[in-house]
Amino acid sequence: MSYPAHKPIVYIISAPSGSGKSTLVNELLKSVRDLDFSISYTTRAPRGNETDGKQYYFVSRSEFEKMIRDGEFLEHAEVFEKDYYGTARRFLREAEQKGHDLLLDIDVQGAAQIQRKCPDATSIFVLPPDRKTLEERLRKRGEDREEVIEHRLIAARREIQNYERYNYILVNDQLEDSIKALRAIVRGERLVRAGRPLSAEEAKTVALADRCRLVNMRDRLKSILDSFKPPGDSGKG
Ligand code: 5GP
Repeated sequence: MSYPAHKPIVYIISAPSGSGKSTLVNELLKSVRDLDFSISYTTRAPRGNETDGKQYYFVSRSEFEKMIRDGEFLEHAEVFEKDYYGTARRFLREAEQKGHDLLLDIDVQGAAQIQRKCPDATSIFVLPPDRKTLEERLRKRGEDREEVIEHRLIAARREIQNYERYNYILVNDQLEDSIKALRAIVRGERLVRAGRPLSAEEAKTVALADRCRLVNMRDRLKSILDSFKPPGDSGKG
């Protein structure tokens, strides 16, 4: 006998490196129920105190390529032109069986693939308030050498150009505010999709989420994008 399946809401979160996305994701997972994190597979080496099966499943290139051939990935991409990263299909199946929703922390290439396969996915792009703040954060975390920082800033400028493909824009300026907004986006989507009348409190959550919708973020986005323009670029042409 088959039971009516819960259709998980898939939340995609992308950000240039150094935007504070991992902290936001960790805080979100602590405070929202029935939301699973999709642990990606990667061929990159573990950093710091990362452990296999927690932040990522760390696999060799040949293991990853076998998983591609076996059709185990919902999406995969080569990030920073160096390492493979991929989302396993099984996380979506498991979320469905448990009646949970699923959060994917993936790059812009992976997000585009998921959006084609799951057009109902909710996508969130996290941005730093400006380039200078991103640069300071990258230096402060002290993980990367100077040339890596430069490389990440160039990558950030490129990634940011994809903001139009996302439903929500979250400017990570004050951490507490960003966490509240992110929680509101996740809860707001659930509330709207449930399609029932909202309490006053719930309506406030949806209103907070709505403030982060792409259409409502145009002015803020313009100043962030301008800060990433190379010197001398007037923005014309
Ligand atoms: P990091 O190596 O710093 O943990 O992650 C580098 C980038 O890879 C981040 O932008 C992160 O979102 C992205 N990423 C992590 N897992 C996946 C995945 O499964 N698929 C794709 N496409 N990107 C991923």
